[in-house]
Amino acid sequence: MSVAAVLNQAPWRDTASENVLSHLQLPSIDGMPDSLSYDVAIIGGGMAGLSAAQAFARKGASVVVLEAQSALALGASGRNAGILCAGINMPITYTPKGSRAAQLWSDTQRKLFEVLEEAKEESSLIDVKRVGAMCLATSKTAAARLKRETSARLGHGMTAELISPADAAKLSGEFINVKNVFSAMLLPDEGAIHPFTLIATLANRARRYGGQIYGEARVENIDKSPRGYTVRTVKGKTIECRAVVSAIGPLEAPTGRIFALAFKVEIPVNCPVWWDANPYIYYDYRPGNGCLTVSGGRYGNPGTDKFDQQYHSKMAEATRQWVPSLQKKEPDYCWGVDLHVAPDLLPEIVERGDNCLSIQGLGALGVLPGLVLGEQVADQIAASLSLTQK
Ligand SMILES: Cc1cc2nc3c(=O)[nH]c(=O)nc-3n(C[C@H](O)[C@H](O)[C@H](O)COP(=O)(O)OP(=O)(O)OC[C@H]3O[C@@H](n4cnc5c(N)ncnc54)[C@H](O)[C@@H]3O)c2cc1C
Repeated sequence: MSVAAVLNQAPWRDTASENVLSHLQLPSIDGMPDSLSYDVAIIGGGMAGLSAAQAFARKGASVVVLEAQSALALGASGRNAGILCAGINMPITYTPKGSRAAQLWSDTQRKLFEVLEEAKEESSLIDVKRVGAMCLATSKTAAARLKRETSARLGHGMTAELISPADAAKLSGEFINVKNVFSAMLLPDEGAIHPFTLIATLANRARRYGGQIYGEARVENIDKSPRGYTVRTVKGKTIECRAVVSAIGPLEAPTGRIFALAFKVEIPVNCPVWWDANPYIYYDYRPGNGCLTVSGGRYGNPGTDKFDQQYHSKMAEATRQWVPSLQKKEPDYCWGVDLHVAPDLLPEIVERGDNCLSIQGLGALGVLPGLVLGEQVADQIAASLSLTQK
């Protein structure tokens, strides 16, 4: 199949169980009364919004998630590359010291362990594998940078170790061609997650504690009201609430187009996730769920798919350099997503008013930061709502 012929979609829908898919379905807000009342309204049902929703619900708040789409997983959270990686979308050595984002390195590391632990529970839907991640340096400059990055991570209490190209090849079960690799940084705790399984888990937990999630509920207005806020959807529903969290995600005001593809291929069990340490040829590679999923690289212009084929072909070719067994194969999935990205984008919570917070800046690496910030907004607001823990 040629790259152009592949649909613009990620492999997650095809590789999720019926059970997981069923948890992503949403009732439409159309069936609800025109006026509703809750303690907290959360706008957006991605990782960040759902994380906030389950945290509020567990604290005893009555909470509603208003999702613009008709189902969950149609935003960035359901179209990402499925890498579960601590940190934010820049090296630790570039993260501004003392910033809230710098604190996110250890917070996301802690959250990573929580997700890995939760996945071990028998009833857990979460499909995650702690296979580790390798950052591979293909130049002397990149190798020097890796050395600095490894010490910085260790200095932050994170786990990282420099390994040889031969070790990298061995860890991958000789799946990866390391002939151009100078050195590698191994992050042993990182993993590959099936994004739908995490979204379904967060949504279920919010529902279990009484939270409600509605689809076709695009919010167009938030106004101050005597009780707190009046939130209005484009279809004319109003939600009276005491607090609002905006978690509309990185797709709403895109500045770039990010590309991804996946090859269906058999990969040695426990082959780590890997990426190239050189920022100019950066792609990341995520084995798992019967595929090698690849994302990243240069961003394209948002609002056009004219150059998708070029970007995807380049990405497929780069993959074949690492994995010679893919030489004659074309990707089975290719997709492109317009999103807000910038080299200095920092995940953050922005205060928009009393008990009105916005989670933003999640960009191209935001699963764990989204989970952390979602819980932090709930902590920040809950105290002033005097809730009773469930
Ligand atoms: C191709 C690609 C690969 C990526 N790979 C990775 C990766 O491997 N690992 C990683 O950690 N991160 C990755 N990311 C980034 C990660 O997916 C995002 O940072 C994260 O999912 C953002 O979560 P979110 O909840 O903020 O946004 P979203 O998941 O986009 O959720 C926001 C939701 O808000 C809804 N919404 C928007 N406006 C409104 C409105 N007005 N009213 C109601 N609802 C609204 C949207 O429909 C959407 O469902 C990748 C992203 C992309 C696109």
